[in-house]
Amino acid sequence: MDLTTYADLAVRLVNTADPTRPELEELGDLEALREFLRNRPHLRPRVTRQDLDGMRALRNELREVFEAVERGDDDAAIDRLNALLVQHPVHPQISGHDGQRWHMHLTESGSVTDQYAAQAAMGLAILITTLGIDRLGVCQASPCREAFLDTSTNRSRRYCSERCASRANVAAYRARQREATRQPVQPCSGQ
Ligand SMILES: [Zn+2]
Ligand SMILES: [Zn+2]
Repeated sequence: MDLTTYADLAVRLVNTADPTRPELEELGDLEALREFLRNRPHLRPRVTRQDLDGMRALRNELREVFEAVERGDDDAAIDRLNALLVQHPVHPQISGHDGQRWHMHLTESGSVTDQYAAQAAMGLAILITTLGIDRLGVCQASPCREAFLDTSTNRSRRYCSERCASRANVAAYRARQREATRQPVQPCSGQ
C-alpha cells in the first residue's frame, strides 16, 4: 500500500469541522464518529466516548499543521507533526487478513484515536518528505477553510473543490466589474 494515501485520513478528519462555522460540526456525537469511520471497519466497533474527545483534539492538531503551512511557517508545521509522531508511534506489522495480499498495518495497538493518528501523521510525514510540504493546502475561497492535498503536477491548486474554484472565479470577476465601473471618466483629450 502507498503510505501517502494515509495522508487523506488527515484531510478527511480536518474537514469534519469548519473553524468559522461551528454549526457544521460533523463529529457531534459517538454515532457521528462511527459514521465517519465507516471506511475503517477494523476501528469502528472499538470506538469509545474518549475517542470522541481524542479525535476532535487530533483534528485541531492536524488543522494547525495545514494552517501553519498555509501561512508559510513550515517549521511550526513540522514541529507539530513531529510531536504527533512521538505521541502516536507506529509499530508496523504485516497482515494478510480477510484473504488480502500481504500488506502493512502501521500499528495494531492503542485506542482508535491512536491508530487513526499514527496513520494520518505518518501519511502526512511521508507525503511531505517525498512530494514536498507545499502539497498541503487550505482553500482560498473565503470563508471556506477546507484542507486539501495538492496532487496537481504544477502544484497550483488553491481551492478544495471545483465548487469553491468557480465561486472564487465569480467573486473575482464581480470585483473586477466593480473596479471597472468605479474608474473616473477620462476627460476628453481630443481636438
Ligand atoms: Zn489491513
Ligand atoms: Zn473550499
